[in-house]
Amino acid sequence: MSKLPTIDEALRLVLESVRPLEAEDVPVGEAPGRWPAREAVAAVDLPPFDSSAMDGYAVRAADTPGELRVAAQSAAGRPAAAALAAGEAFGISTGAVVPEGADAVVPVEVTESRGDSVRVDAVAVGDNVRFRGSDIRAGDVVVRAGSRLGPAQVGALAAVGIGTVECCRRPRVALLATGTELRRPGEPLGPGEIYESNTTLLAAQLRSAGALPEPLDAVADDEQATRAALARGLEADVLITSGGVSVGPHDLVRAALSELGAEEVFWRVAVKPGKPVVFARRGATLVFGLPGNPVSSLVGFELFVRPALYALQGAAAPGPAYEPGLLAAPLRRGPDRDELVRARALPSEEGMRLEPVAGQASHMIARAAAADALVLVPRGDGELAAGTSVRWLRI
Ligand code: AMP
Ligand code: MG
Repeated sequence: MSKLPTIDEALRLVLESVRPLEAEDVPVGEAPGRWPAREAVAAVDLPPFDSSAMDGYAVRAADTPGELRVAAQSAAGRPAAAALAAGEAFGISTGAVVPEGADAVVPVEVTESRGDSVRVDAVAVGDNVRFRGSDIRAGDVVVRAGSRLGPAQVGALAAVGIGTVECCRRPRVALLATGTELRRPGEPLGPGEIYESNTTLLAAQLRSAGALPEPLDAVADDEQATRAALARGLEADVLITSGGVSVGPHDLVRAALSELGAEEVFWRVAVKPGKPVVFARRGATLVFGLPGNPVSSLVGFELFVRPALYALQGAAAPGPAYEPGLLAAPLRRGPDRDELVRARALPSEEGMRLEPVAGQASHMIARAAAADALVLVPRGDGELAAGTSVRWLRI
């Protein structure tokens, strides 16, 4: 048992097998959640010209305080009015070009209009001027390769005039549930049958990881049917199977994968739940055989599949993205296996408190529905006391 790979060792084996997928052009509006395959470089200075940060008057700082003749107006989106001469002020709006000759803007709040002239308070050179290139200069890097794009990043890309960004394409992921007992939700249950829930669960995780789920019809525990379905699934970038990877007579997935030419990289990891997880590959296709218990599926996906999907999409840091927190209640440790405990994450002044939910067995998906966190409980003796610092994953 102690010879089983740890979570970290298994994850390393998975990530060593990943080659990022080819890049494709993605419109920036559709790029949030994805990773640029190459750094993106600003095409223009930002701002592209010296612009006003306020509504007010463009002036020469040396002329302030004082009464100045209002010689012109500079509005956003219009080319600069003529150059400003000594003793003059130009009315100016936020975002408008600061005219040549001006070196500061006086906010309208500290001015007093007097017919054709305006009385302005003192300003210093550069006050309320947004200088050309002060945000970013043409040629500078806007986003790095492998960094995940969010709203601020796509906003920055758009601001420097970039309409498309090269990202690794999304992985196509075949999903295959195995088990004679499985019925589609909506159908009546016969004796000994249960509803097939892992395809739904895993498809949701896949979508949140930017992958394209391709669910196959569930198969009974029948060698031929299993092999035929796996053969189809192996055409995808990634194949995820559910169930049939344990040691029972109806656990057929590993043998069928091997017959189809998939090379098993590991089977079983020192983790609870989800110990019998399989990782294999055939050519460029990655295969994850997740145990059928729904919570084992959920955990195995977060520990091994999500990082692989992020790496396929070019992520420089594919995770898993553990966060720090504090246990809200004591937890018993397992001697042999690191455990992922379903918990609620509750913000507090000391940091995030993790409150384990009742019902931690690996079939208890309904209990897991009360959780939004997986707390990593490292193997060891005895108990982790309430208040212990832990690492956890958001689900
Ligand atoms: P297995 O890994 O095939 O031994 O299955 C372990 C447990 O998970 C059994 O109780 C199965 O009935 C259940 N199970 C397997 N596949 C699914 C599925 N797709 N949806 C819900 N439960 C499943
Ligand atoms: Mg089964």
